[in-house]
Amino acid sequence: MKSQDIRSKFLKFFEGKQHLIVPSAPMVLKDDPTLMFVNAGMAPFKEYFLGNAEPKRNRITDSQKCLRVSGKHNDLEEVGYDTYHHTLFEMLGNWSFGDYFKKEAIAWAWELLTEVYGIDKDILYVTVFEGSKDDDNLEMDAEAYDIWKQYISEDRILKGNKKDNFWEMGDQGPCGPCSEIHVDIRSAEEKAKVDGKSLVNMDHPQVVEIWNLVFMQYNRKANGALEALPNKHIDTGMGFERLCMVLQGVQSNYDTDVFTPIIREIETITDKKYGTNEKVDVAIRVISDHVRAVAFSIADGQLPSNTGAGYVIRRILRRAVRYGFTFLDKKEPFIYRLVDVLSKKMGEAFPELRSQKVLIENVIKEEESSFLRTLDQGLVLLNGIVEETQGDTVSGEKAFELYDTYGFPIDLTALILSEKNLKLDEKGFKAHLQKQKDRSRSASETSTEDWVVLFEDDVQEFIGYDTQEANVKIARYRKVTSKKEGEMYQLVFNLTPFYPEGGGQVGDKGFLQDEHGDVVYILDTKKENNVIIHLIKELPEHINESFKAVVSSEHRALSSSNHSATHLLHQALRTILGEHVEQKGSLVKTQSLRFDFSHFSKVTLEQLHEIEDFVNARIEGKLPLEEQRNVPMEKAIEEGAMALFGEKYGDTVRTIRFGQSVELCGGIHVKNTADIWHFKIISEGAVASGIRRIEAITNQAAKDYYTQNNQAYLEMKGLLNNAKEPVKALEQLQEENNNLKKQIENLLKDKAKNIKGELKNELTEINGIQFLAKKLDLDASGIKDVCFELGSQFENLFLLFGAEKDGKAILSCYISKELVANKGLNAGNIVRALGKHIQGGGGGQPFFATAGGKNPAGIEAALEAAKEYL
Ligand code: ATP
Ligand code: MG
Repeated sequence: MKSQDIRSKFLKFFEGKQHLIVPSAPMVLKDDPTLMFVNAGMAPFKEYFLGNAEPKRNRITDSQKCLRVSGKHNDLEEVGYDTYHHTLFEMLGNWSFGDYFKKEAIAWAWELLTEVYGIDKDILYVTVFEGSKDDDNLEMDAEAYDIWKQYISEDRILKGNKKDNFWEMGDQGPCGPCSEIHVDIRSAEEKAKVDGKSLVNMDHPQVVEIWNLVFMQYNRKANGALEALPNKHIDTGMGFERLCMVLQGVQSNYDTDVFTPIIREIETITDKKYGTNEKVDVAIRVISDHVRAVAFSIADGQLPSNTGAGYVIRRILRRAVRYGFTFLDKKEPFIYRLVDVLSKKMGEAFPELRSQKVLIENVIKEEESSFLRTLDQGLVLLNGIVEETQGDTVSGEKAFELYDTYGFPIDLTALILSEKNLKLDEKGFKAHLQKQKDRSRSASETSTEDWVVLFEDDVQEFIGYDTQEANVKIARYRKVTSKKEGEMYQLVFNLTPFYPEGGGQVGDKGFLQDEHGDVVYILDTKKENNVIIHLIKELPEHINESFKAVVSSEHRALSSSNHSATHLLHQALRTILGEHVEQKGSLVKTQSLRFDFSHFSKVTLEQLHEIEDFVNARIEGKLPLEEQRNVPMEKAIEEGAMALFGEKYGDTVRTIRFGQSVELCGGIHVKNTADIWHFKIISEGAVASGIRRIEAITNQAAKDYYTQNNQAYLEMKGLLNNAKEPVKALEQLQEENNNLKKQIENLLKDKAKNIKGELKNELTEINGIQFLAKKLDLDASGIKDVCFELGSQFENLFLLFGAEKDGKAILSCYISKELVANKGLNAGNIVRALGKHIQGGGGGQPFFATAGGKNPAGIEAALEAAKEYL
């Protein structure tokens, strides 16, 4: 069965059981502070389990893109070495939100596997939770056991511990026992030797878990206690690639049609064969896996970068480059060339791969090139370290520096050292790494207490599109302590005018005022699992009373100006640069806005002016905001609104129109474009290959910008004696300055000529060598000239010159080629040794070398010491 059919059979099966098929949510999470990537099928549905939102239907089925490379689930180091863990994989799932429970979940899983897919019962094992005395006296999941018994013989039902058979979403929240389904795909011969039962959950590559059925029936509180959930849920996850392995009768995920086309392409490009050498195989598996993770995340709008989720993606790609570099001998970019097969193979199920193919290729290629440059540089640095190393062990500190500052991978360091018969002080390296980890961990540690519920209120309404002020009550609050921000309180109201950070726009600020006139400031507003959270420093005294909640109107005016201007900018870019422009990121703050978009060349100055004029014309045009809420998605698209890849949209959306600009948007906007006042671009540049970034300002910031520029202009004019034409006056000044520079240069040349003449007379002969050591009043390049000039006139020359410049010392040593060859003298070694007198160091070639240091007083001593070499 082809993988495509395996996927659709799953979805169709559950559709037949009244489940709604939904597409995979984006893998990169944008508005969840607790998680960077979807790491399990349930992540996009968290808000339903927590009861913060209502699902469209209480039975859903999907195939969700998951990435397990950070945090609680991190399989990165396994990938490539085993045959069944990936970074990116698809998790097939069926969901019940307060609807069916264990009986149906188990019956259907069994029916699908054994009847629809026709898997032989005799290769299956299932597990149930055995209970845990240490954890709230949890009992064994007898309910599940009794159900399984109806389908599978009892000797194939195994009892498992908390680690394998109790699933928790996080430290707090919904959780429950689970039943895993394992397959044993070993040969009959192997099976006869070792009982399959003993291999379940033992990391055997052919006895693997394929499906996990989670029965959510508890809620974990901050103090660790469990309480029964009023509504029980089903959350299941089956590894799609593992299922393909079983159904296609192969022994490894990489031998399924999900991977073979990519692997064939790697073989063609690298001229290596899969299945002939273990190291090569690992490298090929790593690359075929990682290219998927990186391509999908770029398609979701997450580019490789230096921080957060972008950094995780960069590290995955670098891991792939490293394996290609080391084991497949690929010293030039090639991973980007795999995107073509990938998009052909998976483009149907994931159209974003097809439509963004060129961008994905460009970004990967650029990343590869830049990391290969890093590797090259690192190799040079490493050679330097090796040269300096005394004994046979390279210090952990040096290796850490190479890793930390230059991004040079430690395993490569170790490999290269072992080729040179050197050891790496791994203990020292690990100690430095640990120190760094501890530092960053303690900086990011937070502890979150349970919610204190003041009154039950399910529907929390956002009224901020219509008003900036409302009477509210605090429904619940909790304390959050972090190193960075200290103690803070998070408040949830029954309703709120505060806009939570999201869609690139910053959260609202403002205050709460009670009837006694007491005020507390709301420092920020965020959204977590669909709940709007207001951050404050101290709890108000009369917490049970009602408050006037007021959004800062200045904050609103500035952030909404920037947001509306972002829409106009988007329209301008698509009109002026072309329809290929797609939004790739946006940040709307109060001070400025930032917009990233796909475009393959620099935006010219004329185009930038045109863009500014386009936007400003629409600001002057006083276009009113036309907002539509709850528009069906299809209708919005029909009206020309653009949907962004990597965004999660509901069935109905909100559209924002200013004139011809129509966007799907949940943010806060000005009522009329005139409120923006003015739009000014302050920078344009590249963020990645094929991605440009424009930064711009509006409103008060634009005014300030012009005021400050004008101020600077007036000051400049003043300095130019209020010249009528200041630009001309400045040009004149520059010209004068250039002429003066030239004159000085000529004078210095003359001076050097004179010096040369004098120096000739000062040469003394020692042991047949023409020798001179002297302090000169010339700069480094002047001294070099002198050396080579004299060198062309005399044989057997040994020169050492010292000079002082800006409080620093320079030593330059010149030695004729004959001396280097016959007497073994080496200018590089000499300046390095003499460097100690001037508290510095240097180097160069055997016939000419320089050293710099911070102690000019030591020059004389160095000159004196030079004689000793003769
Ligand atoms: P394992 O013990 O094999 O790592 P798990 O206990 O981490 O699996 P779950 O978190 O229960 O797995 O995920 C549900 C299913 O997703 C698993 O049964 C498996 O089929 C699949 N799965 C989990 N991790 C991976 C991965 N890294 N690559 C591919 N499939 C995976
Ligand atoms: Mg795992």
